[in-house]
Amino acid sequence: MKYSTEQLQRLDRQYVWHPFTQMKDWLAEPPLVIESGEGAVLRDTDGNEYIDGVSSLWCNVHGHRRPEIDQAIRGQLDRIAHSTMLGLANVPATLLAEKLVRIAPEGLTRVFYSDDGSTANEIALKLAYQYCQQTGGTGKTKFISLPEAYHGDTIGSVSVGGIDLFHAVYRPLLFERIPAPPPTGGIEPLREIVEQRDSEIAGIIVEPLMQGAGGMIEMPKGYLADLRELCTQHDILMIADEVAVGFGRTGRMFACEHENVTPDLMALAKGLSGGYLPLAATLTTERIFEGFLGDYGETKTFFHGHTYTGNPLACAAALASLEIFERERTLEKLAPKINLLAQQLERFKRLPHVGEVSQCGFMVGIRLVRDKTTMEHYDWTERHGARVCELTRRHGVIIRPLGDVIVLMPPLCITAEQLTTLPGVVYRCIKEVTEQ
Ligand SMILES: *Cc1c(COP(=O)(O)O)cnc(C)c1O
Repeated sequence: MKYSTEQLQRLDRQYVWHPFTQMKDWLAEPPLVIESGEGAVLRDTDGNEYIDGVSSLWCNVHGHRRPEIDQAIRGQLDRIAHSTMLGLANVPATLLAEKLVRIAPEGLTRVFYSDDGSTANEIALKLAYQYCQQTGGTGKTKFISLPEAYHGDTIGSVSVGGIDLFHAVYRPLLFERIPAPPPTGGIEPLREIVEQRDSEIAGIIVEPLMQGAGGMIEMPKGYLADLRELCTQHDILMIADEVAVGFGRTGRMFACEHENVTPDLMALAKGLSGGYLPLAATLTTERIFEGFLGDYGETKTFFHGHTYTGNPLACAAALASLEIFERERTLEKLAPKINLLAQQLERFKRLPHVGEVSQCGFMVGIRLVRDKTTMEHYDWTERHGARVCELTRRHGVIIRPLGDVIVLMPPLCITAEQLTTLPGVVYRCIKEVTEQ
């Protein structure tokens, strides 16, 4: 049965509560309803096409309806959709774990599955905490995270979050977080804190190279490697949240590779399944794995697991996505596209209301400001970022801002032509909204 656009819009507004959305605003306008897609393009129920400028919230990699991934899921569907990993192994989850260990930074040898980025980080935090408790570091109960950190929306991942707008209201529910000084000051200010408090600190969690939801904030070069060294010196576990930056987003498979860093724990999600199905993984080292081994009665077990952990359909999609990376040399082909995107961004820097343009590979943030010389920002309730993104839709581009930061994060498969259309539309819309 085919529903009309109007029927779907009515049903959505009657029954659905959307994420990160002020529903009062949502209810004021008929929503755009996506029905299909192909490559970097989304199509709505009226047949209008749009470039998917943020990879369906940062997760799509090789495009929508990639025949190889579609086929892998169909093939798995002919065998089984789901069986539990509590007490059983399954074929795709086993093969994917081997593959992830092979491509991950050297030394990460164990894979713990879950379903999304928030849980992948919660698992990393719980593993780090429990590891310390079980290996003589019982005083190590706290975590450090960066200003503007974003690690997900569940209570544990919010606890290490640093975005007041999202996180402040939940403070009474959260565990204590030690905020790191801004990375722009280098590693030394953090070293001072760590030197005083290392016996209390279990781990430090960071988004390597580019802090995403905090507003596309680039990490200074060398900081990640310095942080690795600091953690090693003080016996603190380093947790790399590669949920956004993993799977080619920064030009390398994992962002940690840029600084030859192996974290103690690495959280993966978003791009893991190619952007097809909810799937996450927390990778860790043999040292941490062994800290959980013992006789049953010692209760060193990691008592954690979700119903759909290691879901075979999602793992089959992930395997197919990783095969495309190898067969098509996706990362080699990405390098010239990253350069093309960088060239396209040059002219944005000359706009009177663009304060800053940050880029790390295929991750871009364009910060809108009221005054470029003083970097005075707009009153956020004026919704400049949102207004730009509403306007781009009328020109066939779907993007979603972070406050007044315009985010461009297209699928890695985007064509050169689409990669000029996308910034072109965004440029004109920024001009129209900020210079009227
Ligand atoms: C999106 C994101 C998360 C949360 O992932 P979900 O799948 O939305 O739970 C965590 N960390 C980073 C860096 C992210 O970008």
